Parts: sequence; structure tokens; C-alpha cells
Amino acid sequence: MPERILIVEDENSVAEAVAYTLECEGFEVEIAPDGRRALEAFEARPPALVILDLMLPGLSGWQLFNAFRRQADVPVIMLTARAAEADRVAGLEMGADDYVLKPFSMRELVARVRTVLRRSTRAEQQEPDDALTAGDLRVDLGSHEVTLSGRPLSLS
Ligand code: CA
Repeated sequence: MPERILIVEDENSVAEAVAYTLECEGFEVEIAPDGRRALEAFEARPPALVILDLMLPGLSGWQLFNAFRRQADVPVIMLTARAAEADRVAGLEMGADDYVLKPFSMRELVARVRTVLRRSTRAEQQEPDDALTAGDLRVDLGSHEVTLSGRPLSLS
């Protein structure tokens, strides 16, 4: 079954272009032009991923993001024209899975969608995110810890 992506964007040309590209990549796509309809669509059937424009009429992208997160842990890629570093940092701190600045290339967006979906699928399977294993040896690239059969090794 194709993975469903909810696109929340009031600019029709952007929403249509993104939807077309993702459909060509084999995804099922739903477009919501404002916060109210986005919430309705989300509640009716939580998607595999949300592409969320921050600049929306009515409910802001931030409010919407919080509303989504209260309901289900669906990965969110934020989309915005605002290039401010502060926005990017705030978005990631709030728990957005990725952040794409407009204008963006469709290839870049598709690559990010695939990466975020892969990451969230892996998280569901409860496999370590950034670890290499070989037999009983496990190297955690995030914490820089190396363990052998679960016991930490001290390496220089
Ligand atoms: Ca917009």
C-alpha cells in the first residue's frame, strides 16, 4: 500500500507541484489548504508523513504542528519561505523531523521525504538509529560508545 502524505499548503501552485511530484514517486497524497482542513484530514486518517507550510491563513503552522503532535507521532517536514535561522532552530527544537526552505527543488524534497520516512520506520522497529553492529560488538555513533556483549569498552 502506498504511504500517504498530507501536504498542508495554501499556495495552490506549490501544493499541486509537490503533490504531483510525490504521486509520480508512488506516494498517495492529500492536500489541505488551511489548518482546519488539515486537522480534519489528519484526524480522519493519520498520514505517514506531513509536509507543513508554516505560513498559513488561520491556524499557524506552529499551532498546527502542536495539534498534530498531541494526536499522533507522525513525522513532519516543515516548509517555509522564512530563511531565519531562529525559525529553523525553533522548528527542530519543537521536534520537526526536517526543515525545507523555499524555494526548494522537488528532488531535494523527495529525498528528504524518503529519509524521514525511512528514519521513522526504523524507529518503529525499535532499531538503534545510529549504531553499527558486528556480532557482539556495537558502536553507537550518536553517543560514541562501544559495547561488547552489552559491556562498555573504553577506547581511546
Ligand atoms: Ca503558505
